Amino acid sequence: MQTFEHWIAGTYAPSRSGEWIESVDPYSGKAWARIPRGNREDADHAVSVAKDAMTSGPWASFTATQRGKVLRKIGDLVLEHARDLAELEVRDNGKLLAEMLGSLKYKAEYWHYYAGLADKIEGSVMPIDKPDLFGFTLREPVGVVLALTAWNSPLTFLAIKCAPALAAGCSVVVKPSEFSSSSSLAFARLTKEAGLPDGVLNVVTGYGADIGAPLVEHRDIAHVTFTGSDTTGAKVYEAAARHMKRVAMELGGKSPNVVFDDADLDRAAAGVVSGIFGAAGQMCTAGSRLLVQNSIKEAFTDRLLAMARTVKVGDPMDAATQMGPISTAPQFRKVLDYIDIARSEGARCILGGKPAEGPGVGAGQFVEPTIFTDVTNDMRIAQEEVFGPVLSIIGFDDEAQAIELANGVAYGLAAGVWTKDVGRLIRMSKALEVGTVWGNTYRTYSFMMPFGGMKRSGVGRENGIEAIEEFLETKSVMISTAADAGPANNFVPR
Ligand code: NAD
Repeated sequence: MQTFEHWIAGTYAPSRSGEWIESVDPYSGKAWARIPRGNREDADHAVSVAKDAMTSGPWASFTATQRGKVLRKIGDLVLEHARDLAELEVRDNGKLLAEMLGSLKYKAEYWHYYAGLADKIEGSVMPIDKPDLFGFTLREPVGVVLALTAWNSPLTFLAIKCAPALAAGCSVVVKPSEFSSSSSLAFARLTKEAGLPDGVLNVVTGYGADIGAPLVEHRDIAHVTFTGSDTTGAKVYEAAARHMKRVAMELGGKSPNVVFDDADLDRAAAGVVSGIFGAAGQMCTAGSRLLVQNSIKEAFTDRLLAMARTVKVGDPMDAATQMGPISTAPQFRKVLDYIDIARSEGARCILGGKPAEGPGVGAGQFVEPTIFTDVTNDMRIAQEEVFGPVLSIIGFDDEAQAIELANGVAYGLAAGVWTKDVGRLIRMSKALEVGTVWGNTYRTYSFMMPFGGMKRSGVGRENGIEAIEEFLETKSVMISTAADAGPANNFVPR
């Protein structure tokens, strides 16, 4: 059993409570590591260290160019340690090792991108309507940032949140999910190796109620950036609002893949299958609804079934595996409950629909790739996030109905549109109430492209240049240039 500790002030330390949480490997079903069960005392300690690091430590006097150099080095170290970090994450959440390796190598690019942006943060000199007055703006780091992250991709969230926050000059406290904290704790050490001063990035672990909530409410946290469920997100949003903190919320989804009859159907089927069975559907952007034009519904469903039947379920460390286990025990039960709900609502299961068995599956929490048809948009299986390998098929007649169905959910994270008609792709992109539209592709990400949700899928955007804005305050400075006391120095009404 491996032991991981909080990372505070550039060193590892156990929780002040002396208590631990066991991390269970979802493939073997066995506890493989323990992490500190943090509490309010740990929260207070981490925030005070982060606050000091921002205001009085060497970080406060780093030039923007120096910040960029450290971030670049962090990216290099992520690349160098990609395999070790990936293996930790796989043991915690059962993601495929092959996918994790690819993802981590790409995550290094996120660090490099924000390294390059660190010294391009500029204020402005403003033309001003009053005589003898010189006005300009300063762009300053917002303060100590709290990053609360979900269990499905901890190192991805860490890069997406911390790279722009550090580029902006903030300090950070990260609280990863209690189900998958090991990779964030191991990563933290690399930031010291890269030259990040002690206390600028801290990682503390534990349950949301024990340590997450006290962190959100801490008076010295200026900004809360959250990735998780909309239910917890709403609680965190509310608590942050009571203290007037800034927030960014990356929440769940019920994303549609919309397939028109003129689409390249092989390509579309591959996109739909990987969009829902990749990471066993445990992605915020899971394409959990297939909206398919009725004229091709039957033929496309056959194509989909043929492809989905070949999905190889098994050991996430095995390079041949295409779908791993469900990451946590509660999530495993939740997915199976939704399958029961779909059946009881009258949806017809045409693939899977039960825990996976057989060789390669071991004692893990596996659910078969599952497809329901005869789904209507008012069913819970069409409306609620399952976060598992469960696809709902709904037919539509025309573009107007496709838009109505696609937008007819509480979420608005992403959508895929499959058609050869460019005009339709543009019309659909404008009409869909989602933060990201993919045309003839799905689950393609870039650190340059803003990412975030509409409606219940969230608030704010990550990635791209605008992500840095989340971590900056604008300060206006007005200085009198008058040689003598004159009107500019007297009371001038606003
Ligand atoms: P969750 O909401 O249960 O937990 C998220 C984090 O919040 C964890 O670190 C948890 O410990 C913490 N937390 C829980 N209660 C808290 C409280 N009262 N105060 C402060 N912190 C608290 O989410 P999860 O189950 O870990 O992740 C799955 C969810 O994440 C899914 O809904 C998925 O769609 C969503 N997600 C969204 C994105 C995105 O970018 N939009 C990406 C991945 C996952």
